[in-house]
Amino acid sequence: MSGKLIVDCCDAVHAALMEHTEEIAQLDQQIGDGDHIYNLMRGLEALRAMRAQLAAPELGQALQLAASKLLATVGGSSGPLWASLLMGMSRSAPRECTAADVSKMYAAGVEAMQQRGKTGKGSKTMMDVLIPVAERFRELVDRESGIDEILCELPKEAERGMLSTREMLALKGRASFLGERSQGHIDPGARSSQVIITALCAQLAESRERGRCHEEVS
Ligand code: ADP
Ligand code: MG
Repeated sequence: MSGKLIVDCCDAVHAALMEHTEEIAQLDQQIGDGDHIYNLMRGLEALRAMRAQLAAPELGQALQLAASKLLATVGGSSGPLWASLLMGMSRSAPRECTAADVSKMYAAGVEAMQQRGKTGKGSKTMMDVLIPVAERFRELVDRESGIDEILCELPKEAERGMLSTREMLALKGRASFLGERSQGHIDPGARSSQVIITALCAQLAESRERGRCHEEVS
């Protein structure tokens, strides 16, 4: 996995979140303070502004640089949480990038985020998307599913997780102050995470496809 791929992934996530900015802002106005998507966009813009720095080093170092940048630029809960995820991933960044290696790296990132946010599934947060995706990823790898299947299945799991937050009672973050009034609304962080996972899977699938075409041509 090259730095170029990280840069492509940042671009893909940025474009996908741009498409959903208003919707996510509205979700956050219902149960949060409305800034979630703008926090994320600020971080992504900062990452895109350092594309040359991110593209050069090996994966672990690029992820570490990106984590520090997010920590410095993204406010709210999302900044430290996403920085923890990238930092956790950077610590287990593989040399080879088999599906099993990427699954372990992602799981390590989610674990680090979970420790930072002190919550698991069921609190109506982004963890309700990111943890099930880690679990499903591992399950697919254990079943020796192909990469194309994995990239097709993970967005479905992310969508299930995102939708599951609608009826949950918020137990963490600002939405928890609303008590029962938090029910009936999708969590904005779960929605943005689902959009991010979906964009990443699409980008990875596209990069694979491009690689295949390249192999055929060369
Ligand atoms: P803030 O809560 O400071 O307004 P953001 O607006 O950046 O932070 O992000 C809000 C999102 O953060 C929520 O929708 C929720 O998904 C997520 N969140 C809040 N607290 C936690 C936590 N402890 N662990 C994981 N995610 C959390
Ligand atoms: Mg907020």
